[in-house]
Amino acid sequence: MLRAVSGDIAQEGVDVIVNAANTTLLGGGGVDGAIHRAAGPALLEECRALGGCPTGQAKVTKGHRLGARWVVHAVGPVWKGGARGEDELLACCYRNALRLALELGAKSVAFPAISTGAYAFPPDRAAAIAVREVRDFLQVAGELEVRFVCFDAETLGIYERLLQAWE
Ligand code: ADP
Repeated sequence: MLRAVSGDIAQEGVDVIVNAANTTLLGGGGVDGAIHRAAGPALLEECRALGGCPTGQAKVTKGHRLGARWVVHAVGPVWKGGARGEDELLACCYRNALRLALELGAKSVAFPAISTGAYAFPPDRAAAIAVREVRDFLQVAGELEVRFVCFDAETLGIYERLLQAWE
């Protein structure tokens, strides 16, 4: 199942919350800040031991004080105009996060709009990639419930249009 909801991803009651992290995994603003605030300082401690994460890849921690059991920290690309492999790196983020969620035995996963905040990836283009990758993945992992958690009305509108177009 795949749907778009609005809200703060740190408050989602799912097995896995995907974080829009940076390569240091040592915290930032936006989604990352909200997740760390809600999870408490033990999350940062666990992240420190991971030694960072390359762009396009993802790493797992526990959820600590979050409602979620795990956090999958995915590192999206910084938008540099679109000719530096940004599309494929963003697609990799979604694929790697979904693969890890499945390996963890998760039944539900919440995604933010990775790279569309501080990393400036165009929101329409990013959402089309996100929906395509999740749809493809659900062909083989149909039991998984995936939520796109949108922080603003514009992002929610983009996802709703894309999801309707697929139905
Ligand atoms: P990135 O650095 O990957 O661009 P950001 O966290 O800056 O990540 O932003 C990614 C997207 O998440 C943006 O659309 C932003 O508006 C949205 N966002 C910010 N805070 C939250 C939150 N608490 N829950 C869900 N989405 C959020």
